[in-house]
Amino acid sequence: MFDLPSWWAHLVSWLSGHAVEPVLGALHLDGLSGNPDDIAAALLIAALQLAIIGCVFRPLETWFPAERWSDRRLTRVDRNYTLLMLLGIFPLFTYLVLMPFSHLLGGGGEAVDPGTGSALALTHWVPWLDHHPYVLFAVYYVIYDFTYYWMHRTQHAIPWWWALHSMHHSTRQMSCWTNDRGSLVDGFIQSMILATVGLVIGVDPDEFAWLMLLGELVQNLSHTNVRLGFGRVFDRVFVAPKFHRLHHMLVDPERPTLHNCNYGQVLAIWDVLFGTALYGEAPRPTGVGDPIVDADNDYGLIGLHWVALKRFWVAVRQPAGWRPGEVAFGADYTPIPVGQLDLHALARPAPAVAVVADASAGDDAMVESAPG
Ligand SMILES: [Zn+2]
Ligand SMILES: [Zn+2]
Repeated sequence: MFDLPSWWAHLVSWLSGHAVEPVLGALHLDGLSGNPDDIAAALLIAALQLAIIGCVFRPLETWFPAERWSDRRLTRVDRNYTLLMLLGIFPLFTYLVLMPFSHLLGGGGEAVDPGTGSALALTHWVPWLDHHPYVLFAVYYVIYDFTYYWMHRTQHAIPWWWALHSMHHSTRQMSCWTNDRGSLVDGFIQSMILATVGLVIGVDPDEFAWLMLLGELVQNLSHTNVRLGFGRVFDRVFVAPKFHRLHHMLVDPERPTLHNCNYGQVLAIWDVLFGTALYGEAPRPTGVGDPIVDADNDYGLIGLHWVALKRFWVAVRQPAGWRPGEVAFGADYTPIPVGQLDLHALARPAPAVAVVADASAGDDAMVESAPG
């Protein structure tokens, strides 16, 4: 019988022995505490992810675009960044930081030596789950996604964190490559939070890679420039490209809180439950109104990181950077609450893109509110 886990393990050890270990040896990185198999697994997962983006999501942008672009110039930086992240930074980060960190906290101990895992591990409280790995994976996923939802809301609410996260939002051409666009500092903070929660609930570090891949793939799709929803019912359960596109909308000066919506990563239920879900709104151009952040579009990969880091550094060192609320940035990167600004004056002139008209949009516009 075809046994996926053992087939995968063989593939990982083959790549590790034939490619990763020789390269690490040549770079004199082989004496470190990480396991070369982690790099091999991350590379194989990356190859799978890139194949799905290239063969499925990218053609969707050509056939059913949500926005018609005369060129794809601004998507190039995101594509290059995705390749760099998936084939270089992420595998190395997994090897050098994430796996040593998870083993330091005793992750995966339960599997090797029962009793040494986290006291909060789900299988510790519900041993039944140990014998139902797919149910366990689904439960892990729901907890992982719930954590992501609240982390994402915090990224928008705390000015120093928005200084970093705004780099993800600044693109005027949101595409299948945009998911990985984000400051490395932000990525580090996020993966530490998610990995810690994963380890506390007892996720094996190797399974963590699969949790992340699933989340990443759904996010690659939800950033794709495609007119795609999942229908009235499933739109309330899963994040569709239409749903996440509204999260990236440009501020509407007439309705200045409309864009505070749709924070979910994979499950839309958190937005429905906590009153941040927005459906049926006609698509708006994506990007940010703040001209200081919008200037990100003038930079390449390194410049983009540099200006996001400058915003972060100025914000994190002053009280205004810690006061919750939506902000824009002054010329010296000082956070300024948007309540003090004239949003009409900030509004970008004519959008550079044509939003494809959608007959179904606009007729049932509503913000769902929390029940009760
Ligand atoms: Zn966001
Ligand atoms: Zn996004």
